[in-house]
Amino acid sequence: MTYETLLENNRRWVDETLARDPDYFRDLAAVHRPRFLWIGCSDARVPANVVTGTSAGEMFVHRNIANQVMPTDPNLLAVLQYAVEALGVRDVIVCGHQGCGGVQAALDGGAPPPHVDGWLGSLRMVVRLHEEELAAIADPAMRARRLVELNVREQIHNLARTPVVQAAWAGGRELRLHGVVYRLEEGRLRDIGITMDGRSLAAVTSTTSATAGGTPATPPAPRERVASVAPEGDRPW
Ligand code: ZN
Repeated sequence: MTYETLLENNRRWVDETLARDPDYFRDLAAVHRPRFLWIGCSDARVPANVVTGTSAGEMFVHRNIANQVMPTDPNLLAVLQYAVEALGVRDVIVCGHQGCGGVQAALDGGAPPPHVDGWLGSLRMVVRLHEEELAAIADPAMRARRLVELNVREQIHNLARTPVVQAAWAGGRELRLHGVVYRLEEGRLRDIGITMDGRSLAAVTSTTSATAGGTPATPPAPRERVASVAPEGDRPW
């Protein structure tokens, strides 16, 4: 496939789409109101719309290497703020995936290209945070799989501590954070059971520094809700 193929594919897609629905693009252009924000890895094998069966207009997307949520990343924060405050998304999904090169690099401690190496700094912190558990897993492949899941969990917690999410919850907004892991070999998404909503506010603020921005009023009871899909025990995949 070449670059020219992409343009030809686009022409065909427009023709086929208009043949099915002459108003498709006019309707799509008229409103931008996605329900979901997807924060995933840049890996080309995990395309958000494709793996979730969603169409144009349904999902706001942010991707970076190893699906990081860094409180100092202006790109992530701008996307998050626009998604929550302007677009009114209801669900934010952090998706990690098995076979993630970023996760593997953070584990291996090798020498990725300098910018990638710098980007993976916070992921190495996750490795250190869970050093004992990871070291106890003898199989390197299983260790990497476990880190994929631990990484998603850490990013959900990072997300919950952002001023944007804190303000949404303090204001009583319906906003849920979900963690999922995608299996490349099977095409399946698995909810890892860390869904958080406004009821998680107190738990999160108790570990948030005073620099977190807006001061939430009277936080409700802490609650990290276990998702409807049960995690697969402690299996370190
Ligand atoms: Zn990846």
